[in-house]
Amino acid sequence: MKERLLKLLDNAYAPYSNYKVASIVETKDGKIYEGVNVENASLGASVCAEMNAINDAVEDGYRKGDFKALYVMVASDRLAFPCFICRQVITEFFNLEDDLILMNKNETKKYKIKDIIVHPFSSEDLK
Ligand SMILES: [Zn+2]
Repeated sequence: MKERLLKLLDNAYAPYSNYKVASIVETKDGKIYEGVNVENASLGASVCAEMNAINDAVEDGYRKGDFKALYVMVASDRLAFPCFICRQVITEFFNLEDDLILMNKNETKKYKIKDIIVHPFSSEDLK
């Protein structure tokens, strides 16, 4: 997965921040969905890599319970956790026991989704 993510980083579109991110969503049935961050001159129109990968899987019909892991690769010396907007999107589609794998060129750290989403706001709260 690491090599695939490193290659995917080349497709990140980050001319403003120069902070490239690639993400892969792995489903329980073995499918892979890729995403990169796509920035925009109107910065608010920028979309994170994680969101692009997750939305791509959702577009194919995958839903909460179908996912196994989320990978996030950054072109930086520091590993990076998903931003809080992405954490809300992750809450919508991942279970708390699913894997989150953070990577950069030199390092890999494995977490559970529950490690970064301690008090989720989800559909359960709307009941
Ligand atoms: Zn984000």
